[in-house]
Amino acid sequence: MERYDRQIKLLGVEAQEKLKKSKVLIVGVGGLGSPAALYLTAAGIGELILVDFERVELSNLNRQILYWTRDVGRIKVEAAFEKLRELNPNVNIRTYPVKGDEKILDALVEETDLVIDGLDNWETRFTLNKLCVKHRKPFIHAGVLGFYGQLLVVVPGVTPCLQCIMPMKPRETRAPPVIGTTPGVMALLQVTEAIKILTGYGKPALGKLIVYNGYELSFSEVNVSRNPQCPVCSYL
Ligand SMILES: [Zn+2]
Repeated sequence: MERYDRQIKLLGVEAQEKLKKSKVLIVGVGGLGSPAALYLTAAGIGELILVDFERVELSNLNRQILYWTRDVGRIKVEAAFEKLRELNPNVNIRTYPVKGDEKILDALVEETDLVIDGLDNWETRFTLNKLCVKHRKPFIHAGVLGFYGQLLVVVPGVTPCLQCIMPMKPRETRAPPVIGTTPGVMALLQVTEAIKILTGYGKPALGKLIVYNGYELSFSEVNVSRNPQCPVCSYL
């Protein structure tokens, strides 16, 4: 109770209990997934599932704040597990140092309450979007580039899914430029939305794409609606 005192004052004990009973899957524990995992752990989520097959590289450290210099070369989810357990030993953390292929993700999405997109590639992102629609799980997408970020909250059957608004995969570039704060800002928006959806407190950003422009510091919203021909979610 003391650990969560400042948020219980806001959300109430019942909401805190809902967080304690919730399970969140984070796919990709990099620039987005690091701060998302830290804040969900600090907030007292019941269970956190982390999926990432990569090892820590020196060039990750400008933004992937779960990893420190001494972690370079280590499996990311192992280094993440240690830090998160020290931050809050009450959170049950499961780690999967595997590539997020469809079969593994399918089982993990099915057992979870909410999914956070910490990915850096559109192929897996689209797979994850499809699985969240299939299992009717809220999916919180964010993507970053340079000083820019976007956020989309997908509640299957209620809001557009990721593929409703991005019918085609955008062009991928290897190791695109990014300032460390951009994924930080976007990840904290993802966790804000996750906490609201899991507790029922507040008003999630449904039906709008939030666009962050850190270059001149502004946020904008684009109203989005479901595509009745969407190959992923139109059957709902
Ligand atoms: Zn759709």
